[in-house]
Amino acid sequence: MKTIPPGSTIGILGGGQLGRMTALAAARLGYRCHIYASEADPPAALVAAAHTEAGFDDAAALDRFAQAVDVVTLEWENVPAWTVERLAERVPVRPGAGVLAVCQERVAEKRFVAGLGIGVTRFAPVPDERALPGAIAEAGLPAVMKTTRLGYDGKGQTALRDAAGAGEALDRIGGGPAILEAMVDFAFEFSVVTVRGLDGSVASFDPVENRHANHVLAETLAPAPITAAQRVEAVRIAERIAVALDLVGVLGVEMFLARDGRILVNELAPRPHNSGHWTMDACACCQFEQLVRAVCGLPLGSTTRHHDAIMTNLLGDDVLGWPAILAEPGARLHLYGKAEARPGRKMGHVNRLFPIGQRPDR
Ligand code: AMP
Repeated sequence: MKTIPPGSTIGILGGGQLGRMTALAAARLGYRCHIYASEADPPAALVAAAHTEAGFDDAAALDRFAQAVDVVTLEWENVPAWTVERLAERVPVRPGAGVLAVCQERVAEKRFVAGLGIGVTRFAPVPDERALPGAIAEAGLPAVMKTTRLGYDGKGQTALRDAAGAGEALDRIGGGPAILEAMVDFAFEFSVVTVRGLDGSVASFDPVENRHANHVLAETLAPAPITAAQRVEAVRIAERIAVALDLVGVLGVEMFLARDGRILVNELAPRPHNSGHWTMDACACCQFEQLVRAVCGLPLGSTTRHHDAIMTNLLGDDVLGWPAILAEPGARLHLYGKAEARPGRKMGHVNRLFPIGQRPDR
């Protein structure tokens, strides 16, 4: 196992806030980051040593990038397989193509998780309209229909309550291929962020509750209000998935706590996760530093929570509230350097810290 020492250059595919916070954590440990993204001034490039502005299909740019970096990681799981394979011939890519193949396609992802004996909601693939009756029979109604690829923050998904509306629902999300998932009657949504090192060591942050508004994460509450037994089970699930994927890096595992008490896995994200932002201020070593440590073959840091926390996303104009947040004791502000505050756009977040056990009820 080869360590990639401080002073080396980490290539990051994607230039958003996750890449930015990874680059900041990398800089703290003496690494340089080189951002590969198609936009002109992406948030990550503003805090990185180098930026390649090129598309994921630009072979010459990818080859130059591979030459310039010691290891590649990613902040967006939908990087095309071709891109990752081309880079991987020249430089280690962590997490690798096999992980992405599972996490880029919802049917493959659900089958993978279910194949480990871990709970997921009933589901059925919908390759095209003809598959709808069979899929409805298999998954049941009400259901959620989602595109198999590239959906996020509720985009590319729609609720289905009766069979008569199925064709129209499929059209609304592009006509297929899709996945039909039985709608989960959940008490709340929560997640576990797990990290796995190059040597196979695994560590997890405490499970946290996630509250959404308009399908976008609004707040994360750390820790989640679950029992000790549920906490153990949730962490075991996330770590089993990370090991089975042979992941090197960070994995966000989104889960439902169903009203009947079952834990069901909803979605995997093989990168730092929005529900892990609280770890920047409330844990010994945050998810971004853990990613740097994992991909560089360093020992993982401690995931111990030293404060309880509420992480609030600053979406669109919320960011204008920064002066009041700065004036608040116990609030830690993180802004992403995005110029334009479009409605719903993730502009930053704030972590509010509380002594363990003293987080206010909400
Ligand atoms: P996803 O893109 O899969 O993370 O879904 C976005 C959000 O839609 C989730 O955070 C849930 O709030 C909701 N959702 C997704 N799938 C289901 C489901 N099978 N049952 C109930 N709610 C769901």
